[in-house]
This record gives sequence, structure tokens and C-alpha cells, in this order.
Amino acid sequence: MSWNFPYESITSIMDLLDRKELAMSKKFGQNFLLSKDVRKRIVNTMELSKDMKVWEIGPGIGSITSLILEEDVNLTAFEIDYGFCKILANEAFGDEAKFTLVEGDALKTTISTFKEIGTPDVVCGNLPYNVGSVCIAKLLENKCHPKKMVYTLQKEVAQRLCADSGSKLYSAFSVLAQIDYNVSIVMDINSQAFYPVPNVVSSVIVMNKRRTPLVEDELRDTFIMVVRDLFSKRRKTIKNNLISGRCGKLYEKEVLLEAIENSGVPSQARAEKLTINDFKKISKELFSLKK
Ligand code: SAM
Repeated sequence: MSWNFPYESITSIMDLLDRKELAMSKKFGQNFLLSKDVRKRIVNTMELSKDMKVWEIGPGIGSITSLILEEDVNLTAFEIDYGFCKILANEAFGDEAKFTLVEGDALKTTISTFKEIGTPDVVCGNLPYNVGSVCIAKLLENKCHPKKMVYTLQKEVAQRLCADSGSKLYSAFSVLAQIDYNVSIVMDINSQAFYPVPNVVSSVIVMNKRRTPLVEDELRDTFIMVVRDLFSKRRKTIKNNLISGRCGKLYEKEVLLEAIENSGVPSQARAEKLTINDFKKISKELFSLKK
């Protein structure tokens, strides 16, 4: 690769942006990861090998991108900032045969690319704090399930993804992610490793696809609907949430009460105390009624 940019140097980054008459934008959550050591550890976590299909969301000006390309993989990068796209495509990686750039909002472009060319092996991203969780949720909802995903996220978002039953951070998002993935935090990153320095701590998470999902395919839609309903008001009991949610629009109240009773899950419980297996028991009762 001919591009050998000193991504650790704030002066070099500012010079490059000045030369291109570009500025960094808060709106797009632009905080560049300077530390080469941290960037290398992130890429090592991806366990890449030659010719793998890798997607990077939010490459910025390419600090992680350049290290990924050193692994001789096929990399598709999704970037919203038009100016950064010009640097990536014309200056940095224009001569890399294995690099493809998709310009635009990754919340839309990842899904359209998935529909066009299917699931990559690995998805990664140092995601802007405001779009990180939405981006992951969209991939999961659309059943885009790469073998591995490695994200740098705001620490609290990372903790929500990993949270277990009983934790305050346990949510529909945790359950949705954990149906198909083992999720864990690999490391925290000090905010000083970024430029500009953000006012939140970041964590790197790895999501390894389970060999067998925790929820069978045929049950999935009912399961997701139940989980969303049960978490919709955290203080409400599962009984009240189910009745006032989408399930309440599809089933009579008596039917819902019977389903909860048959499941053996206490109707006065709150969603944050339920295990994935408890959600499954209620979903199975509802699913069998549908048939
Ligand atoms: N990967 C670089 C790094 O680690 O230094 C930049 C990370 S920076 C936190 C986030 C990047 O995501 C920025 O380049 C920003 O322009 C881009 N971005 C923000 N929102 C986006 C979106 N909706 N779709 C695609 N890229 C987005």
C-alpha cells in the first residue's frame, strides 16, 4: 500500500483536512482514534484472514481501514462525510483493488448492500455515539448476521449490549443481540486516545455468532414482539405491558393472561428480571395459540 499516513499525529491530520478545506463535524460524531496500539488491538480482535469480506462503518480518513487492508481482505467501507469519502477514494485507497467505498448514511447503505450482496464475514466500526446502537439493531433486525462484529462504542451502549437479566442496563436491545451472539467487552479506551477528546469513555465489544441461535426461526417474530412489549415500560409488570402493547392488539386480554399463566412466568414480574428462556416460554405459548 502506497498510503502511509501518520494517523497518530494531530498536526498531520489537521494539515490534511486544511489542504482539502475540510473541517471535522460534531454532527457526525467525528472523533479520530489516534493510538496505533489501540487500533492494532481492535484489528487483531477481528481475527482476519486473506480474502475475508469485511465491512467497516464510519472509516473517517482511514486510521483503522489502513490496518485492515494490510490483512489482504476485501473491505467495503461505509462513510457519510463527503469530504472524507474524497480522501478515502482519491487519495488514500484509490489504488487498492480490494477496497470499495459506499458513500452515504450507513443506516441505509449497509442494509441495501446486504440485500444486494449478502452477509460479510466481519463487520466493524468505531461508531459515532449517536448512531452506534441503531446501526447494530438494524443489521440484526434485517437478519444480517456476520460471524463476527467488533465495535467501538460509548461504554454505556457496550454495557447495555452485554447486560444480563437482573441488570439495570438489561433491555430489549441486549436480548435482541444475545439471541444470535455471544457479546463481550474486550477493552475500554481512554478518551485521550481520540482527537478531539470525547467526553465519554469508549469500549470495544466483540460479538461472536452463536453456532445455534437461542430462538428458533419460526418463533423469532413472536419472540421479538413479546420482548419489545415487555420492556416497553420498565416499571410495569409483564402482564400490563403485554396487554397494552402490540400483543394486546393481536390477542384478547384473556388469551394473553392464559399464555402467561401456562408459561409459568409470574405475571407480576418485570422484564428486567426475565431470562431469555422466560421470554421464550411466553412466546411459545402465544405462538402455539396462533396456530
Ligand atoms: N474510524 C475512524 C477512526 O476510528 O478514527 C473515524 C471514527 S469517527 C468516531 C465516526 C465516523 O463515522 C466518522 O468518519 C463519521 O463521518 C462517520 N459517520 C457518522 N455517521 C455516519 C453514518 N450515519 N453513516 C456512515 N458514516 C457515519
